[in-house]
Order: sequence, then structure tokens, then C-alpha cells
Amino acid sequence: MFNTRVKVKALLATEPKNQEVTVMGWVRHFRNNQFIALNDGSTNNTLQIVVALGAFDDSLLKRITPGAALKVVGELIPSLGKGQKVEVKAHSVEILGDCNPEQYPLQLKNKPTLEYLREIAHLRFRTNTFGAVFRVRHALAFAIHKFYNEKGFVYLHTPVITASDAEGAGEMFRVSTLPFDNPPRKDDGTIDFSEDFFGRATNLTVSGQLEGELGAMAFSEIYTFGPTFRAENSNTARHLAEFWMIEPEMAFYDLEDNMDLAESFIRYLIQYVMEHNREDLEFLAQRLAEEEKQKPQAERSEMGLIEKLEFVVNNRFERISYTEAIDILLQSPAYKKKKFQYEVKWGIDMQSEHERYLVEKHFKKPVIVTGYPRDIKAFYMRQNDDGRTVAAMDILVPGIGEIVGGSQREERLEKLENRMKEMHIPVEEMWWYLDTRRFGSVPHAGFGLGFERMMLFITGMTNIRDVIAFPRAPKSAEF
Ligand code: ATP
Ligand code: MN
Repeated sequence: MFNTRVKVKALLATEPKNQEVTVMGWVRHFRNNQFIALNDGSTNNTLQIVVALGAFDDSLLKRITPGAALKVVGELIPSLGKGQKVEVKAHSVEILGDCNPEQYPLQLKNKPTLEYLREIAHLRFRTNTFGAVFRVRHALAFAIHKFYNEKGFVYLHTPVITASDAEGAGEMFRVSTLPFDNPPRKDDGTIDFSEDFFGRATNLTVSGQLEGELGAMAFSEIYTFGPTFRAENSNTARHLAEFWMIEPEMAFYDLEDNMDLAESFIRYLIQYVMEHNREDLEFLAQRLAEEEKQKPQAERSEMGLIEKLEFVVNNRFERISYTEAIDILLQSPAYKKKKFQYEVKWGIDMQSEHERYLVEKHFKKPVIVTGYPRDIKAFYMRQNDDGRTVAAMDILVPGIGEIVGGSQREERLEKLENRMKEMHIPVEEMWWYLDTRRFGSVPHAGFGLGFERMMLFITGMTNIRDVIAFPRAPKSAEF
């Protein structure tokens, strides 16, 4: 029934020769009982369908309302109106699905806010903003695989359910089939997870890195791309409880190689989208420009979205050490005028306000910070000779802050074991991880790029809940 249809995007690029075409989609609006704007999600542009006056029953015309689904057969002709090259002169119009205009929440009368659209996330794909966002998301996911495939990396699927805690922080969602009301207990009163489904306590993964390292020790270069889960109770515009992460892990890489890969990866993704999603990016740039107009002058960004993306493609990222970063902050006018809410001194875990000062005010471009204090970083990061820093690197970008977190890994068994003991990480349970350091250990490195943070950067959207289809955040799991 549907296989002869041509998508709107293709029809808009077709030479009109009065050929008969079949098109299906949803009505955006219907003007003067004559002009239907039809959209099928292949582009934000609509195809104009002309229904000649008097050619169709009133009862049918009444059912052509915003949101209704139609099948139209007609002739593709040059458009007489402005704004489009082609239109379809309808021979037949079939209503595939009615849409009650009294109840349809997406009437165009008032422009819906992003907050309102979040409440109707099941319908928001039908708006121009979310049409553009999710076509870009698709393209970006595709480009990620393309990038690593071209480099010969193996795509490794790491588990979603794990018994290990990669970060050593208690921010995990428990996975259990034990009864909540009356779980089996040990003599000391604690829950007896040996009776649980897996015979032990398990969680949703916070990162695929540890398993990724196992793959890198055989394939040399792997990447993961999947959902990760963090039960952190941070109700921010940059955190989700369920988000997607790309985690490459490479043997025979040091920190420098790691940074080079991350930088070229980010550039590649931006370039891919600029080349393949121009129309959607231009729409998003326009949207952002309008949003910026609402802000006071001082808070507006100096560059438009596309200008910013071009700048990132054409300029190398700044590379500084954590120690240098702290010095810059301590010398900054913002610090001297007590503008920072959080304390600044060597040893702090930089807050978003610090990261954003560095990239937005000081360097005005992406920055890679290396050599963080070991006490604020994970156990697996390679210890530097100074005894107080590790070979970590975070990439910070304007408007967002941290987008990538990575490091060279500690490949020396003894150093790794000692650090784990210091940090109270159960060494016995991690026997499989430590085995890689026993059987042919090599220098290796990797990083994690937050997919939704990258989406924010590329689309210019400002809330992370607007770049994932069905956001999961504290007190929010609808749809
Ligand atoms: P942040 O300090 O912003 O919470 P993090 O240090 O916890 O980040 P990592 O553990 O290094 O982040 O994770 C790697 C990447 O995953 C981050 O650089 C970021 O892009 C992304 N990321 C981390 N937590 C979240 C989250 N809750 N929601 C969305 N993306 C996230
Ligand atoms: Mn975090």
C-alpha cells in the first residue's frame, strides 16, 4: 500500500513534469480550504498540496486538520506560489488518520515553549525544532560509527548490567529481582544478594570502560557506543540519569595520542553534520539566534552556531595543565571580584563555573586540561612521577563545560593494585581487570564522550533533555 510513496524531501528536489506521485504525511496547516502543508519528517520543509476549489466534498475538507495523516495522489507541478519550486495538484486525498483539532496539543496558534514540548515528548518530533534535532542526532550516531570504522576500531558491546563500579562512586541503579518488601537477609541484617538473580549485587553500568580495556588488549583499538546510567541527583541542564556515551580504548596510546584522537574525532563529527545536515543546522542556528535575543547583551554568545562550529573545526584546542588552569583562575578578574561561588585552589574538582570561565572568557575556544590531582580522579588513571597528579585529560567546550573525560590508564600492576587498596576498591573482585596487567600489559588510553553533551554543542540546544528522545532525570521517566 505504501511502497509507491515518495518522501517529501525527495519530491522537493524533483523536476516537476506533471508526473503522478503518491505522498503521505501529516498536515502542518491547511489554508483557505485549498493549500495543505504536508510534512513526513524527511525534512522540515513541507510539500504544498493544492486541492482545487469544489473538487472535494466539504465533509472530507473538514477532516484535513493539523496533525491529520493523509495519503495524496496527484500531479507534481511547478509551483505558482512563492517559497517552493514544486507542489502537488491533488487528484485524490485519503484520510489515513483523523486528528481532533480540539484535542491536538500542537496547534500552531501559539508557539509552544520547549518546557511544554518536554511534557508532550511523544508528539514533539513533529515540530521543526525537534525534527532538526533528531535528524542531526541520527546523523551524528552514524558519523561516530563511520569515524571508528574508517580507522579500523572494533565496535565492542559492553554489558549494561554489571557487578563492578567503574568509578568507585555510589551513583548506580541497582538491578535486582529480590522482593522489595521482604528481601532475604544475612545474620547481620544486611540484604543477602547471593539469593538475587545473579547471585550477587548488580547495577546498571556507569561506563563501559573497564570491559573496553579488555577488548583493547586484544584488538588494539575498540570503541563502545551505548547507554550508561547514573543515579546522580543532579537536576542540571547537562546531566541525565540515562545518557549515551562513546568510549574508545586504545592500546599503544599515551596521553598525547589520546588527546589527538579526541580532538580529531570531535572535528570529524562537526564536519560531518555541517556537510550532511546543513538545512537543519541553519534552522537550529536561527532558533538559537532568536533565543539569544531574549538574553541581556552581556550573556549573548559572540558567535552564531555555524560560525562557532566552523571555528572549532579550524582551530586547534588549547592544551593546558590543571596547575596552569588553577593559576589562570586565581589571577582572573572573576576570582578577584569574588564572582565564583565555589572555592578555587590547587586540589579542587573544578566546578562548571570554573570550566566555563576558562573556555568562554579566557581562551574563547575548547580547552584540554591535563594532569589532574590524583585524589579527585579514578583509580585506573596512570600516576605521574610527581606523585600527586595523574595522566588525565578533560575536554571543555564553550557553553557546556566538560564534554570528554579520559586518561592514560595505569598499566603497571603494582602501582594499580596499590592505588586500588588506597581507595578501598575490592582487588579480589577485579581479578579479571587486573589480569590484563599480568598478561602482556601495554601502555593504553581512552576517553568517554558524552553523546548528548556533543549534541548540545552541535545543535545549540541548551537543555540536555531536549536532545534525547525520552529523557530520564530525577522524578522524570514519562513515556
Ligand atoms: P560531570 O563532571 O559533568 O558530571 P563526569 O566527570 O561525571 O562529568 P565522566 O565520568 O568523565 O563525567 O563521563 C564522561 C563523559 O560523559 C563526560 O565528559 C560527559 O560528556 C558525559 N556525562 C557524564 N555524566 C553525564 C550525565 N549525567 N548526563 C549526560 N552526560 C554525562
Ligand atoms: Mn558527574
